[in-house]
Amino acid sequence: MTQDTKEIAIIGDGFAAATALIHLLRRGIHFSKIVIIGPGVLGKGNAYTCISPFFRLNVREDLPSVFSEDPLHFARWAEVHIDDPEAQTDAGYFYRRYDFGRYISELVSKELGSDQIDHIDAKVSNLYKANEHWYLETDKLKTIAAQQVIIATGNPPPIWPCAVQNIQTATSPLQLIESPWVGQDLGSIHAHEEIMLLGGGLTALDVINALVGQGHQGLIKVICPRALFPPMQALWKRERQPDWPKNLSPAKLVRFIRSHLPSAPTDSVVWQSAWEELRPNLNMIWQQFSYFQRRILFKRLGWLWSLYRFRASPQTINSYRKLEANKQIQFVLGRAKRIEVAQTVRVVLGDGSTLSGDRIVNCTGVGRDPLLSKLITDQIARPDALGKSIAVAGDYRVSKASGGEWKDLWMIGPPTMGSLGDVIAASSIAKQAEQLSIQITAKQ
Ligand SMILES: Cc1cc2nc3c(=O)[nH]c(=O)nc-3n(C[C@H](O)[C@H](O)[C@H](O)COP(=O)(O)OP(=O)(O)OC[C@H]3O[C@@H](n4cnc5c(N)ncnc54)[C@H](O)[C@@H]3O)c2cc1C
Repeated sequence: MTQDTKEIAIIGDGFAAATALIHLLRRGIHFSKIVIIGPGVLGKGNAYTCISPFFRLNVREDLPSVFSEDPLHFARWAEVHIDDPEAQTDAGYFYRRYDFGRYISELVSKELGSDQIDHIDAKVSNLYKANEHWYLETDKLKTIAAQQVIIATGNPPPIWPCAVQNIQTATSPLQLIESPWVGQDLGSIHAHEEIMLLGGGLTALDVINALVGQGHQGLIKVICPRALFPPMQALWKRERQPDWPKNLSPAKLVRFIRSHLPSAPTDSVVWQSAWEELRPNLNMIWQQFSYFQRRILFKRLGWLWSLYRFRASPQTINSYRKLEANKQIQFVLGRAKRIEVAQTVRVVLGDGSTLSGDRIVNCTGVGRDPLLSKLITDQIARPDALGKSIAVAGDYRVSKASGGEWKDLWMIGPPTMGSLGDVIAASSIAKQAEQLSIQITAKQ
């Protein structure tokens, strides 16, 4: 190993990278052996870098746990360190996302003490292996060598899902908000503007909460295929262990899920408790399906899964209800085919119909990770079942394009979803980080 070769390089500096670092340090890896490459504040990533006070966690305080042996760690920290009287609801405490980001930063600082982690402010644009080492080329023209690499690049920020024709005007850049995740552009929206939201999921609800919070008076049009938002979180509790049938096929799984769910509203405690009882086993079932079966299942259930997987904080749904009561919100069913920007913004839908407004916000949540795409093009990694990311095995090793797995290239976080199932929530990512750190330290 040359002096400049690190033992472990982590690509990405968000929540997964921070929790991997914490668990590696706790298992005795010396901080000087690790390098982290990413452009942000360690631990915050796309979800918790936000500046908007209206963006809240979509789970209650006992759920985003970093340490499996201490699930209430965040809840206790929040009680002491967060001053947010509006966090309390009948379904638990739903804190601001930036406060959770502060918690992760503090955990990292506490774990490091006076040590300084090597955090390179850059993005990795290329990764290859030569002479038993991995080489990471960055967009700042620096190359880093490492023995092992953990990919933790998260959900890529959303990009426009259709062509955008920008007939340049002085105001046009402000009329298009491509990614609202940080929330900095929402403050400049005037109260009487007509706003179009592209997509009807949790990001759209975040934007709605921010607009209501800043006193929006204008009409909001939500463009999406169904007139449905994720429901409000209830105070659910897992009480029963589902009696899973043997030899499940995707069709049998769908039937079983239907039979387990009660005919009650999706925002009721009883429905959400039954739904959450199903979740712990689903990743294992997903991993047993073939690539073909996973694609069928995703096609049939993907949208439903995204709708009910997390649900929204009560504060956020209350904002939506306020808009509904004021007749300030409208669903426009369809998918955008083209966006044209001039004095106003015009959206052409798939069926040829059009609508217009003063501004459009992209709430689709769909982006593209250029590094993962490059690993597939360069035949370093194999695409996953859904063709959206690279494949990993159950122990997080990246699958080689030529078959088998790399022994020293790993991936954790949302991009493992196609291979491992529902790995999006903070708690499931932290669990992956913990298990990975056990494997890495056991090898030594
Ligand atoms: C807007 C939003 C809100 C969410 N809210 C919740 C919530 O309330 N509760 C919950 O449980 N989960 C939530 N999630 C789910 C979220 O996936 C996880 O909580 C978690 O933050 C993901 O962590 P991560 O490290 O994988 O990704 P991130 O935290 O996003 O970190 C990835 C980091 O990698 C960097 N990066 C990307 N590519 C490269 C590269 N090539 N080189 C170097 N760095 C790179 C990015 O800049 C980013 O900082 C939310 C997600 C989003 C996007």
